[in-house]
Amino acid sequence: MDQEQTQYAALRERVKELTCLYSLAQLAQRPGMALEEILQQGVELLPPAWQYPEVTAGRIALDGRCYATANFKAAGQMQSAAIVVNGQRRGSIDVVYAEPKPELDEGPFLKEERNLIEAMARHIALLVERRQAEEDRFHLQEQLRHADRLATIGQLAAGVAHELNEPLGNILGFAQLAQKQPDLPPQVARDLEKIVATSLYARQIINNLMLLSRQIPPQKTPVGLNAVLEQGLEFLESRCARNGIAVVRQLSPDLPEIIADASQLRQVFVNLVVNAIHAMPGGGTLKVTTARCGDGVLLSVEDDGMGMSEEVLRDIFVPFFTTKDVSEGTGLGLPVVHGIVTSHGGTIQVQSAPGQGARFDVRLPAAADEHTKEDKTDDILC
Ligand code: ADP
Repeated sequence: MDQEQTQYAALRERVKELTCLYSLAQLAQRPGMALEEILQQGVELLPPAWQYPEVTAGRIALDGRCYATANFKAAGQMQSAAIVVNGQRRGSIDVVYAEPKPELDEGPFLKEERNLIEAMARHIALLVERRQAEEDRFHLQEQLRHADRLATIGQLAAGVAHELNEPLGNILGFAQLAQKQPDLPPQVARDLEKIVATSLYARQIINNLMLLSRQIPPQKTPVGLNAVLEQGLEFLESRCARNGIAVVRQLSPDLPEIIADASQLRQVFVNLVVNAIHAMPGGGTLKVTTARCGDGVLLSVEDDGMGMSEEVLRDIFVPFFTTKDVSEGTGLGLPVVHGIVTSHGGTIQVQSAPGQGARFDVRLPAAADEHTKEDKTDDILC
């Protein structure tokens, strides 16, 4: 090959390389184009940029997914480059020749082709990085919007709860006073009973609202979890029995004490059990378990009721989310549970599927932990 021919060949390779990179950059800039589409169209740019386009096939592998030209087979003479995003290998670009070609700089490939495949891999890595940053920014904005919404709901809820608390206290107090009157006609006695029961239900809602908006600061003292649960079960067991629900308790005798607000913990337990009762309208089994869990304690509340779909599971901790009728649910129970558990430095996990029941696992740090690791929610893993 004379000098002119060599220069011409080098120039042709350079033009092919630039065309390939330019086309990839163009693809990446198309508005609204998904990464998958870019990679699928991007892989088609590979064959024309190599020396023997008619026998060249390409593949881009990223995060376990492959985008390949129609004739790609992972065999024969191959040139590859890793796609490395933020120091992590996430995939590769591979170019193969379908039939053997004579040896050149790197197997049958030119050193310019090595440069090109590396440049393509870097471009794709940058693209993935940029898309990830955009996604992260979007999620962050969503979270901020969500937090804003919650703060507004919280303020509103706190105001309403505060205003209603006093008149409701009066209704309850006067109804209970009236109940003490001797010789009440039976119908009046029954009506008063209904007023008291409804007021208690309304007070429970207000209590949840005030807890949700952190109107009631926690009074933390050393607490035995089992004792709190026993108290809660005392008045929940009769309700379970009325609904045909058998209560099975497996309370570990050697639990460490925790530093917690006992009445808030009781609220956590009551809210979980009331949900379990609602989930088993035809009766069933409620299992309450406690166990030592690393340095902390574990409380599991499990039912074999109707369970939850993935869509429901996604929203259960969102205030006012409910699948129940107006008279049955307010959508405050689980957000309150979540608020209390996290303010005690704990975590809550849920396992459920439609028709398969539900299990709520609450993990709380032990007393000694609370002083040293305030509000570190991820420390208890078991
Ligand atoms: P509410 O009980 O007032 O609806 P929660 O915040 O306590 O509010 O619960 C939200 C939703 O989560 C419920 O409406 C229900 O759909 C679902 N849920 C909670 N616990 C259970 C459970 N143990 N089994 C099935 N679904 C449940």
